[in-house]
Amino acid sequence: MNKTTEPTLAELTETAIKILRRNNKGIFLFVEGGRIDHGHHDNRVQFALDETVQLSEAVKRAAGLLSQDDTLIVVTADHAHVMSINGYSNRGHDILGISRNTDTNKAPYMTLSYTNGPGFYNLTGNGVRPDVTKLQNFGTPQWRSHVDIPVTSETHGGDDVAVFALGPHHSMFSGLYEQSQLPYRMAWAACFGPGSVYCAGRSRLSLPNAGAIHWPLEHLHCLTLLALLASIPVYFFERPIN
Ligand SMILES: [Zn+2]
Repeated sequence: MNKTTEPTLAELTETAIKILRRNNKGIFLFVEGGRIDHGHHDNRVQFALDETVQLSEAVKRAAGLLSQDDTLIVVTADHAHVMSINGYSNRGHDILGISRNTDTNKAPYMTLSYTNGPGFYNLTGNGVRPDVTKLQNFGTPQWRSHVDIPVTSETHGGDDVAVFALGPHHSMFSGLYEQSQLPYRMAWAACFGPGSVYCAGRSRLSLPNAGAIHWPLEHLHCLTLLALLASIPVYFFERPIN
């Protein structure tokens, strides 16, 4: 990314909100942190996590610009990836580093690894996994975390994904759902679309003059921030400060 010419996801989100909010009938904005997905497909976990931080910044920027009184913000993922967190490392361990433990042949492995993808490294002559710390580009963003199954592009995962929400009717977004449920819930809360809606079954777009009847959510903004996460938000982890 060219930091001088390319806007961040947070900047793009802010600009979109400022333009769309001129419409006083309410807005629906969909923001996708799509590069998280690309990082995982390449097994470049540092890229994927950095992009997740960018998404987190976009959520923060949006929440600062929009009132929780009239804006529903939903943050979720449309699928998981096959990244796994190998456990038992100590608190404060570098999430992008090797695990505290080694495998049965005393070869180190990464805390974050993948089931499949292009990051497959051939076993050594005696069938032992290579020492990942000795591999080319180890520790750089370009380095691919190791995988079990070699394929040209890592696959999506089948895990359930989390959903988080702020604002009116946020309690409708706690737990696990079929992803096709989510747009219906947003439409219900914001009173738009052909299905049943919060505003007494009447589409918000067909409501009479807002001054004549008070509809508390008539101008509800609905903002979806979609992440292609690997199920676990990155901000659960801390990197040690060197
Ligand atoms: Zn994908």
